[in-house]
Amino acid sequence: MFDTLSDRLTAALQTLTRKGKLSDADIDATAREIRIALLEADVALGVVKTFIARIKERAKGAEVSQALNPAQQVIKIVNEELVGILGGETRRLNLAKTPPTVIMLAGLQGAGKTTLAGKLALWLKKQGHAPMLVACDLQRPNAVTQLQVVGERAGVVTFAPEPGNGVGDPVDVARRAIAEAKHAQHDVVVVDTAGRLGVDEELMKQAADIRDAVEPDEVLFVVDAMIGQDAVTTAEAFRDGVGFSGVVLTKLDGDARGGAALSVREVTGQPILFASNGEKLEDFDTFHPDRMASRILG
Ligand code: GDP
Repeated sequence: MFDTLSDRLTAALQTLTRKGKLSDADIDATAREIRIALLEADVALGVVKTFIARIKERAKGAEVSQALNPAQQVIKIVNEELVGILGGETRRLNLAKTPPTVIMLAGLQGAGKTTLAGKLALWLKKQGHAPMLVACDLQRPNAVTQLQVVGERAGVVTFAPEPGNGVGDPVDVARRAIAEAKHAQHDVVVVDTAGRLGVDEELMKQAADIRDAVEPDEVLFVVDAMIGQDAVTTAEAFRDGVGFSGVVLTKLDGDARGGAALSVREVTGQPILFASNGEKLEDFDTFHPDRMASRILG
């Protein structure tokens, strides 16, 4: 995903390594290269501006280090700032003091929510939890079956409305699911919700109603890293319409330019908790800002 960005950043920073001492003009020139690389990777303009300003300020004021030459110092600063915009420390999943922990998934249709529900369930199971999936996407005809299939693959129970009862009310399903989870001693409940192809008010209202009914410990905004700049507008719409406590990036295995991944934390103020990088249930991990920054810097 970050190949082009990586190459551009490496090239921008490499020109510095040939210099013994860096002038302000050298730093400005490198900052300009980095700026272009980030914009071409679809990083949101506001994020790029802040990032570049920080790099320039820190690089020009860099204290003389015995251990690092000037170029290495700039590389270190760029790395630290990248880790910073990706969220700094890894943020762990917030577990309820009294089970069950309720995790609600929200995002556009096709973002990868249902797949993520299965991935999360498998991951939680491996950590010793007894998760239950809940099918609250009653809009799309195949969504319930699709969730049941990933649930089976992950080896976990899926709570779904009984077939033949009409479309059903997702809020009612969510409420009954929580009661069932308590009864059957599932300590984590993952609630899949409906997505639309674009942001719409009805979708937001339904998600907000489910949120109010289940009082989630985490609302995870699931976003396809391939959608580039649109990820930011979508994230803002979900932040305002439903609110979320964390982000999951999906399709990081794709060949998109990576801007969404680099912008979403800074724009929404919410941390990235997990990254999904493939269609298999195992293609999933907790998100580590430092590892991602290293990957970007090559
Ligand atoms: P939902 O509509 O948000 O529930 O999205 P789905 O879970 O149905 O995913 C939409 C499509 O994206 C499916 O074909 C998934 O197999 C695929 N998908 C989901 N996550 C990933 C991922 O991390 N990488 C890739 N390559 N495909 C993914």
